[in-house]
Amino acid sequence: MINTLIPVQPNCDDSDPNSLSVSQATDRISTLVTTASNTVKVTERLSSRAAFGRVLAEDIIATLSTPPYDNSAMDGYAINATDIPVSETATLQIIGTSWAGKPFQEAVSSGECIRIMTGAKMPQGADTVIMQEHVTKTDTSITINTGHCAKQNVRYIGEDITIGDIVLKTGKNIAAAELGIIASMGISEITVYRKLRVAIFSTGDELRGVGEILEDGQIYDSNRYSLFGLLQREYIEIIDMGVILDDRTKIENAFKQAASIADVVITSGGVSVGDADYVKETLEKMGSINFWKIAMKPGRPLAFGSINDAIFFGLPGNPVSVMATFTQFALPGIRALAGLSKTSNTNYQVRCATELKKRAGRMDFQRGYLSIDDKGQLSVAVTGLQASHILSSMSYSNCFIILPENTTHVAIDTMVEVQPYSEWSY
Ligand code: AMP
Ligand code: MG
Repeated sequence: MINTLIPVQPNCDDSDPNSLSVSQATDRISTLVTTASNTVKVTERLSSRAAFGRVLAEDIIATLSTPPYDNSAMDGYAINATDIPVSETATLQIIGTSWAGKPFQEAVSSGECIRIMTGAKMPQGADTVIMQEHVTKTDTSITINTGHCAKQNVRYIGEDITIGDIVLKTGKNIAAAELGIIASMGISEITVYRKLRVAIFSTGDELRGVGEILEDGQIYDSNRYSLFGLLQREYIEIIDMGVILDDRTKIENAFKQAASIADVVITSGGVSVGDADYVKETLEKMGSINFWKIAMKPGRPLAFGSINDAIFFGLPGNPVSVMATFTQFALPGIRALAGLSKTSNTNYQVRCATELKKRAGRMDFQRGYLSIDDKGQLSVAVTGLQASHILSSMSYSNCFIILPENTTHVAIDTMVEVQPYSEWSY
């Protein structure tokens, strides 16, 4: 008789030879989205305020310098530096005033000065401003001491931006400072990329929508709500396609419809190896799979590929896995497709205040809390239960603690990599 028993492998390692590492998966996504024909190329002209949060589709060239002329950085008196005394004091006659918006039109000679306000244009012949607090004043003159520096308290033409400079580059996210810079150039309209269309739906026979009655064995669909929150950005148009049951035909139809109207399709659930998991095989049938397993926890299964011109992310079903895989893989891909030049999240090294344990084989994204200790030093502590269905752990935490595949133990006070959730804000 043939012995069909397979020797049992020790199960203390979490590795799977068919999984990509997190960085391999990131690279594959980056390669596919940068070569994708559907990277948004269509642009629109918008008034600058309407373009807040959108992605700039043109280089903004400075049409004037800022400051546009030499001007005073202080309320005080504009003089020529040669009049600063080397010993004793010097007395200078006040011959006029330069207001912000109403410059003094004549020249200042040696032995003279003018009263000048912050932002007012420097007059001919003056190159230095003495703060009003540093003068002794009569109605017609000021007296100054030694110790002033030549050219102090003057803001020079072009110090901030020089005419002809590229002040904002294509791919920049228009935030508050950018709106201000655009206005400082006197520009009222800019060209941005059209919004990226992202379709989302949940798959699962057990899912019911908020407002429906739950029968035995059913749960509310929360993933579409977390994803809705994660996708809130001005450069994205969300297309919510609801819940699709675990049915081959229904999933096929939903994929077909989503791929025809969206640039990116994001699903959750049904991507693993259960008997009702049809997402992967449907993607394979209707489009192409690039990869579907990543050595990370939470979130091993993630079907990445394309259907026609749409990029497809089949995220796992567990709520924490959805947030982890979305932020690590779908979000950088979405940023690139939307035209942003900065696409990745930035991670930091900080001191770990708690002991951490994990199994070898997968990169772990534990939920952590970054805080400042009594010495003003940043440290991170792990928060509560870590399983992939514990969605409250995301709410209690403010960062991921990212532990490499082969790490099994982190001692207190070791430096660890963290990704603050604020990294997902653009
Ligand atoms: P699946 O990958 O479809 O087997 O789903 C894995 C786990 O995530 C199961 O416990 C599902 O019930 C749960 N799940 C899947 N989709 C959702 C959803 N949209 N909202 C909340 N939980 C979900
Ligand atoms: Mg399912």
